[in-house]
Amino acid sequence: MNSMLFGTAGIPLSTPGSSTIDGIYHIKTLGLDALEIEFVRNVYLTRESATNVGAAAREAGIRLSAHAPYYLNLNAAEPEKLAKSRSFLFKAAQIASFAGAGNVVFHPGYYLKNTSEEAFAAILENISKVEQQLSEEGLSTSLSPETTGKVSQFGTLDEVLGLCTRLKSLTPCIDFAHLHAYAGAVNTYNEFGDILDRIKTSLGKEAISRLHLHVSGIHYGPRGELKHLPLDESDFNYPELLQAFIDANAGGVIICESPVMEADALLLKNKYHQLKK
Ligand SMILES: [Zn+2]
Repeated sequence: MNSMLFGTAGIPLSTPGSSTIDGIYHIKTLGLDALEIEFVRNVYLTRESATNVGAAAREAGIRLSAHAPYYLNLNAAEPEKLAKSRSFLFKAAQIASFAGAGNVVFHPGYYLKNTSEEAFAAILENISKVEQQLSEEGLSTSLSPETTGKVSQFGTLDEVLGLCTRLKSLTPCIDFAHLHAYAGAVNTYNEFGDILDRIKTSLGKEAISRLHLHVSGIHYGPRGELKHLPLDESDFNYPELLQAFIDANAGGVIICESPVMEADALLLKNKYHQLKK
């Protein structure tokens, strides 16, 4: 029987202190299981501090992942911007690896003037280059392209699963708030089950037992995501999502990105275990 772990995007808001290590111990105190290190503005750990973070996480029994900088675009038009984007992703994955994080989540890029197919080809090529660099250095952190929430951003479920099908070492990050932000879709038990089925069909049964997911409430408009909301202030149907995970025997990590992230991560965890009984 697979199970889900629950954690926050960045150190919990109620953490006494402000370091990543403070955050790890506070995750444990709260009764949560996982922490996504937010390198979204910059990769703020050094090799040495990342190694210390990894040791603390092992001691506390907390699962780590990381999130790469927001500003990378692996479909940028200019070669210099592409090279910079690859180096941001590489750096995030390298430091994540020193911290023992299993994967690094990233937003692959923007379509700009390209079609989905053109953007896909460019993004695939640039991810491959980063992957090659990681494997040359013997780093094992998996790159996790995320399903994104804006129509201008590359990252539909098909695109993300397509990348993971082409490059076997990639693992998807499925953001349910983002999937829902497209016109309010994906908000029922059957739709959640369909998503899990599509993952299984593309990547095999094992993919369901080690999912990496983002969940929060979301406020959206015609062009998708506007901002994240606390779950209970949003229309997001999280009890049916959790039931779909249980019925599919899904396992992995759920990272909560809501503005009250640790409260919502605990809400999800408690509801999940209540439904599982
Ligand atoms: Zn993200």
